[in-house]
Amino acid sequence: MASGNKIFLSSPHMSDEGYEMEYIKEAFDTNWVAPLGANVNEFENELTAKVGSMAAAALTTGTAAIHLALKAVGVGSGDVVFCQSLTFSATANPIIYQNAVPVFIDSNLETWNMDPLALEEAFIKYPDVKAVIVVHLYGLSADMDAIMEICNRYNVPLIEDAAESLGTYYKGQHTGTIGEYGIFSFNGNKIITTSGGGMLVSNHERQISKVRFWATQSREQARHYQHSELGFNYRMSNIVAGIGRGQLKVLEQRVAKKKYIFNYYQKELSHLEGVSFMPINDWNDPNCWLSCLTLTGAVRPLDVMLALEQENIESRPVWKPMHIQPFFSKYDYIGGKVSEQLFENGICIPSDTKMTDIDLERVCTVIKGLWKWND
Ligand SMILES: *Cc1c(COP(=O)(O)O)cnc(C)c1O
Repeated sequence: MASGNKIFLSSPHMSDEGYEMEYIKEAFDTNWVAPLGANVNEFENELTAKVGSMAAAALTTGTAAIHLALKAVGVGSGDVVFCQSLTFSATANPIIYQNAVPVFIDSNLETWNMDPLALEEAFIKYPDVKAVIVVHLYGLSADMDAIMEICNRYNVPLIEDAAESLGTYYKGQHTGTIGEYGIFSFNGNKIITTSGGGMLVSNHERQISKVRFWATQSREQARHYQHSELGFNYRMSNIVAGIGRGQLKVLEQRVAKKKYIFNYYQKELSHLEGVSFMPINDWNDPNCWLSCLTLTGAVRPLDVMLALEQENIESRPVWKPMHIQPFFSKYDYIGGKVSEQLFENGICIPSDTKMTDIDLERVCTVIKGLWKWND
């Protein structure tokens, strides 16, 4: 039977200091709960300062940010877009919103993210490709030098899906600020959350202004409602942005705790037969959003997930690649079996920043128990 409190994979964690409430209260007291307002502008400014980009647009979701990034680089009907296969569906869905055609790209074992060799192969097959979307999964950064070199050589814009990697650096540069556009998500399970929200960042300030325009129904500056372009209702509210401003203040605290959790697991579980932790390269300073490992011995990921579930502890498989999803399987795929193997062998274990050492010990005891049993 389940014993003890539920341990989550990654759940919302508001600041102990109450920063979020201060910004929300300000919005309430002035009745400026919507639309837009000071919190939205300041959240954009504070995030750009933190990650080191020139401009940002606060939007309703990370998915909306990917959608408008595709629009900003000119992806339209029939255009080919290269997209990392090993990811959450939110990376790929906006390609379909734009009536464009995804071509999925395999990962490599060194990064778990887009394989530059597969990307190179894709460019040879589809020289007219319009954009590339790379992902920094679980807060691990992709091999950006190699990927940027290829994209620059073919003069094709790179969009970084950094939804899971706020607080992750690649060679000292914040992920999401290396390609032409980057997106962040503040969904409930992410390293910081606004309950739901997203941000598009770029050094193309004029394009970011255009994104803000598209995101407010493409309403032109006229007394009457005037529209010459298709619009979207994608802007973040002033309340949501207030939560974001508060959460941004504790990002470093959250990253430190996520790293502590990852190191704890490494210390306790590395010696188990068949266990390998997600790869952290020396050029990568990750946020360790989720602690993930692969199991290639007798104990399978499902065994671990079921044993944890019995003890009221949440875990889940590594993302199922897009090219084997029923909805996306008709699209082309370039690469080998790496993303499929990571899906088959991978597991994400609890990485909730509210966990205590006692909680961490509880998780490790359940996992280690499976190895004793198999001896
Ligand atoms: C969460 C996530 C998104 C989408 O963000 P939302 O804010 O939930 O729309 C996109 N890509 C990846 C890899 C994600 O994990």
